[in-house]
Amino acid sequence: MSDRLEGVAVVTGAASGIGLATALLLAERGAQVIAVDIDRQALDALASETGGCLAATLACDISDPQAPAQIADAVRSLGAPWRILVNNAGIAGAPPLVDTSDADFERFIGINVASIFRLCRTALPLMADQGGGCVVNLSSVFGLTGVGGTTIYSLTKGAVATMTTQLACEWGRDGVRINAVAPGLIDTPLTSARIREGAWTQRRMLEETPLGRAGTPNDVAEAIAFLASPRAAFISGEVLKVDGGWLSGRLGPK
Ligand code: NAD
Repeated sequence: MSDRLEGVAVVTGAASGIGLATALLLAERGAQVIAVDIDRQALDALASETGGCLAATLACDISDPQAPAQIADAVRSLGAPWRILVNNAGIAGAPPLVDTSDADFERFIGINVASIFRLCRTALPLMADQGGGCVVNLSSVFGLTGVGGTTIYSLTKGAVATMTTQLACEWGRDGVRINAVAPGLIDTPLTSARIREGAWTQRRMLEETPLGRAGTPNDVAEAIAFLASPRAAFISGEVLKVDGGWLSGRLGPK
């Protein structure tokens, strides 16, 4: 069984953090990677720095209802089957419940949930028609357990976990596997300022993580690349924690 990949892999939110590490790793393992991000400048810099290791970049807002059609066009123009979709783009930093406006609610749902729903609605039938494929969604440990002060973010990540198990049931017979990763505290541009300043949640998570450190983008990318590879051929509907043991229990004496 090989960890080599073939066909087209779309990675959303690929200009930074976990998405960037994933796009580079999938390309290194043989996939033709389309890096999608809202940040056009960062994508341009990435394309020039990586010297053609990516098959294409696409600047678009993943929460735009037109985004799935744009992405499908980009896949088509590469002339290879769409085998992998990594729904990674997401936002965090949710306000507390009573400060969450309707606009905040719509924004979090639009970027973290509706975009994945729409992109799966476009991608899954195409993958099925082309002989199968796999999807890896970015959930979070915050979507699997209660954590204070992150209501709308946690709600979106719980929805991603549910969407993963649901779609895995519906699309397995079409040859499409659907899994998710649920990262714990990962040191990326999304979290690094709060880790450095010792913000309450990040400090507590670091203290409570059995492996004693924050994860790196590559820790998560390795798990995503595994789930996307033929090595994970009989794994579907899984929400894989990549959290240094944080959610498994509280630290204690041996
Ligand atoms: P990041 O901020 O470093 O990268 C996110 C990328 O998504 C950025 O390049 C950003 O431009 C892009 N993006 C944001 N909104 C977009 C939109 N509307 N359209 C297209 N692109 C958009 O974040 P990260 O830490 O690498 O997080 C990646 C994913 O992992 C997110 O879904 C996040 O919720 C999840 N996650 C992260 C952590 C963590 O500790 N860092 C933990 C659990 C889950």
